[in-house]
Formats: sequence, C-alpha cells, structure tokens
Amino acid sequence: MLLTACRLSKALQLTLAVIKPDAVAHPLMLEALHQIILDNQFVIVRRKDVVWRRQESEKFYAEHSGRFFYQRLVEYMSSGPMRAYILAREDAIGHWRELMGPTKVFRARYTSPTSLRAQFGLTDTRNTTHGSDSVESARREMTFFFPDFRPEEWMEREEPSFRSGRMLY
Ligand code: UDP
Repeated sequence: MLLTACRLSKALQLTLAVIKPDAVAHPLMLEALHQIILDNQFVIVRRKDVVWRRQESEKFYAEHSGRFFYQRLVEYMSSGPMRAYILAREDAIGHWRELMGPTKVFRARYTSPTSLRAQFGLTDTRNTTHGSDSVESARREMTFFFPDFRPEEWMEREEPSFRSGRMLY
C-alpha cells in the first residue's frame, strides 16, 4: 500500500504520467523517478507496469501519425516495459510537465537543466517520461492505461478529503 499525505488549498487535478522504456530498463533511474513523484507531493492513485504491442503504441500516438519521428516513437514505446501512474495533486498536469521539461532532450539541457528529460533523457525520442498536456488528454490517457478508472467518480469521492487538507493513500 502506498502512503502519501498532502495538504493543498487549490483545485485537485489528475494526470497520467508514464516512465518510458529507457528509464524502466535502469532500476536506479526508475527508483529515482518514483522518488521524485513522491517528493513532489503527488498522490499515487494508480500504478501499473505495462508492455505495449505495436498496435497500442500506434493508437496512443495516432495524433503524430505521419510526422518524421512517428515510426521511431511507435517502435520505442513498444520496445519494453513502461510504468504508468495516475497522479493527483494541485495543478498535477502543469506540475508534472514542468518537472519533465521540454520534449527535446538537448533543448531541455539548455533551458531546464534540472528537468527529468535534461537529466535522464537520451534522445528526443527516448526522453524518459510522458505526461498529459491538458485535462482532455489526461482523461483520454488515464482511460487508455486504466480502462476501469472513472476520473469523475474518483474526484467526487476524494475531493472532500483533499479539501479538508488530508488525503491518505
Ligand atoms: N518525439 C520525437 N521527436 C520529436 C518530437 C517528439 O521523437 O521531434 C517523441 C518524444 O518521445 C515525445 C513524443 O514523441 O515525448 C510525443 O511528442 P509530443 O510533441 O506530444 O511531446 P511531449 O508531450 O511528450 O512533450
């Protein structure tokens, strides 16, 4: 059982975070990323290790179909185990994206040297982590990885304890 306590005043938000295959392949990196999630007051709502078939990778990234990096991305995301999380906290989407840093690793190293992608990323494709970029994509992506998860029901059930200042997992 995961135990996290947080005290927050603003709106509770959910996001989908993924540790991509290059990071999962290195146990110390995986552990470091997990610890960063905890250190940033995210509540871990769900966690799952998955291996995608190519078809799932193509579907998840369908919006990039036709882009120059699409085939490379699809192959990479179905190349080995990944770890997916549903995370909750105030401004979860923006906060996780800020922690990740820019998409392109080499840009991240110049503009956000302490970001996850700058520190752990290998290339623009093998950039360590994924995070939803909007409320709409968070809903779609959470359902993609956790088909039985109902964000609205979870919010309704959990927001009162979040607002009261104590949320326990
Ligand atoms: N990607 C890539 N080359 C690029 C841009 C993106 O290989 O020039 C890959 C990278 O793994 C990225 C993913 O495609 O994380 C999805 O791209 P998106 O623009 O949605 O970036 P993100 O939201 O992940 O920052």
